[in-house]
Parts: sequence; C-alpha cells; structure tokens
Amino acid sequence: GFKTGIVGLPNVGKSTLFNALTRTAAAQAANFPFCTIEPNVGEVAVPDPRLDKLAEIAGSKQIIPTRMTFVDIAGLVKGASKGEGLGNQFLANIRECDAIAHVLRCFEDGDVTHVEGRVNPVADAEVIETELMLADMESIEKRLQGLVRKVRGGDKEAVQQERLLKEALAALENGQPARTVEVAEDDAKAWDMLQLLTAKPVLYVCNVSEDEAAQGNAHSAAVAAMAAEQGAASVVISAKIEEEISQLDAEEAEMFLSELGLEEAGLDRLIKAGHKLLGLQTYFTVGPKEARAWTIPEGTSAPKAAGVIHGDFERGFIRAETIAYDDFIACGGEQGAKDAGKMRAEGKGYVVQDGDVMHFLFNT
Ligand code: GDP
Repeated sequence: GFKTGIVGLPNVGKSTLFNALTRTAAAQAANFPFCTIEPNVGEVAVPDPRLDKLAEIAGSKQIIPTRMTFVDIAGLVKGASKGEGLGNQFLANIRECDAIAHVLRCFEDGDVTHVEGRVNPVADAEVIETELMLADMESIEKRLQGLVRKVRGGDKEAVQQERLLKEALAALENGQPARTVEVAEDDAKAWDMLQLLTAKPVLYVCNVSEDEAAQGNAHSAAVAAMAAEQGAASVVISAKIEEEISQLDAEEAEMFLSELGLEEAGLDRLIKAGHKLLGLQTYFTVGPKEARAWTIPEGTSAPKAAGVIHGDFERGFIRAETIAYDDFIACGGEQGAKDAGKMRAEGKGYVVQDGDVMHFLFNT
C-alpha cells in the first residue's frame, strides 16, 4: 500500500492529528478491516462519495473503500541528521514512506511550548527540510564511495546510480531538495530506488486553532505561499477539532462541522490531498456482493490495474469491460450502460482512467 509519513517538530500536533485520523477511520468504516498495524501506523479509508453512489445503484451489500497508510514519525529535532533525538530510526522510517505530510504549528497558545520559542511555520519547515537535506547529502556521499569499484568495472546500473546521485548532490549543495531534480522517464525507476528523503512529495499540514479552521490565518497563508513556490501542496486543519470529531458519530460530526462553517472534515481533505499528492487515482469494481475502490498510480495500464486485485488477473489478462463513472450513473447502472453502448472492451494497452468501473476477463 501507499504510505504517508507524518513529520514535524515536537509539540506541533502530530500525535493529536494521527490519533484523530485513525480513530475516525476506525469508527466510520464499520465493514472495513481497519487495523492499527503498530501503535504509530494506521490505515485509513480514502473517502469517495462516488463509491457510495455506485453501491446504491448496483444494490451492493458491502462497500469497501480503498485505503492509505499513515505513519506517525515522532522524534525529529534539530540535529536529527547527526543522530540526535531518535535521529537514525526516524530517518529510516521516513525513507520507507512514499510521501511526507509535514505538520506545521500555526496556532498560538502560550500553554503549549514551542521548541524554538516562537510560532513561525515557514522557519520550522526549513529546520526539518535542512535536517533531511543533510541526511540525504551524507547518505549520498557514502553511497558514492560504495559505488566506485562497480563503476570502474563498467557495471551499467552502478553508472546510472552514480550519475543520479551526483545530480541529487549538486541540487542539495545548492540548497535545493532532491525533488527539484528533473528526472528523465528512463531514470524514474532507478531514481525512486535511491529513496532520497528530500525527493519525496510533501504536503504541508497547517495546524490552526479551532476558530481559524475555516479561513486559516496569516501563518497558514505564509505556508501556502511557500508551498506554491516549491510545487508542494498545503491544507489547513485544526487537529483539536479533528480530535473532537473523532469522538462523535457521523450525524453529530456533520452538525458540528456546519456550526464551524466547514463543509468537510479536515481529515477527509487531508486524505484526499495525500492521494492526489502521490499521483494516485481510483477505479471501481461493482457488483451485488460488493462495491469496491482500488488505488492505482496515474497512467496505469489495464493489466497492471487488474494486478492490484490479484496477480493472476494480470498474468492471465484477456481484456477489460469498462464503463466510465459518469456513464454508469447516467445510464442507471451496468445493464443500462451496456444497452446504451457505453460499455467498452479494452485491451492490454488501455490506460485506466480515474473513476472507471472495471470488469476483468482473464485466463487462469
Ligand atoms: P506532537 O509532539 O507534534 O505529536 O504534538 P501533540 O499532538 O502531542 O500536541 C502537543 C500539544 O499541543 C498537546 O498538548 C495538544 O493538545 C496541543 N495541540 C495540538 N493541536 C493544537 C491546536 O490546534 N490548538 C491548541 N491550542 N493546542 C493544540
């Protein structure tokens, strides 16, 4: 599955947010096998109203949303790249994540100590980014040394790795995170394998006080501007509100949200933003037994998409019967879509589109 690591300085609201996130997900998804894998790892359902509509039309008994994993990565302090705090363990945890949700303190509260003694989320973001950049530089230099012999021997993979590591190092030495390096398509796989910390996509999560959750504040505006400059994303959230919502049932939660002038729980926005940040999209399988959402990266071919359900589906792939979401709804379901000529037979080369309702035919 896809994993997002929640990072941030101490006392910015990471744990509050993580706990709310997993508790809400557990409560909302009664028929979804929620699990807390480890105390700091939780799986959450990706909210998608389309799935409920499909299930309603098809009379599906069960609704199974697609999932996303969040990891609460505590212990980042200034000096982490030098092994201070939980330094190394912390960096290893981030390395395993596909994306980073960076929680920034945007709330003023004299009772909650700020480790740097002032509320300045843009400066906080830099503190963390700097640690990650230093850690990347150190690991690159080590890896370059380790490659010398293989490169001399003409090992093609080693030559490619060395070239990419040097490009990343040049960016870092220039004060830029590795995600600013433009990577050719042929290098994409090798680049991902390098698992550089600053190559991972970042979502800034602005934790504002309860009364600012709807509009945000000057701090969150500054973060949004910084994010735009970096090609990163940002969301405004109040961890305190999310904590309260996580203790309410769905109806109460909706009333509470509308009182606050919020259309959607911050967690839902956060999960959706995480999904988008990772370049993920959703396709559906719909039947009387269940309506289910599946996650794939944008640009995934039909056989690869089938493989998310089961490896046999990919290996024995024959074709896919496909109905676009809008057609499925407009025609009142599968039979209607079929009658209207909206069901397409697609082969191996088909690139699955967001919202496609898929039915795979395969050899066993
Ligand atoms: P972490 O160290 O980043 O995991 O931070 P915690 O989630 O443990 O939060 C640190 C403290 O800040 C706790 O006392 C929280 O109750 C408090 N806190 C978290 N979010 C907010 C918020 O939005 N407003 C206020 N006033 N306090 C918050």
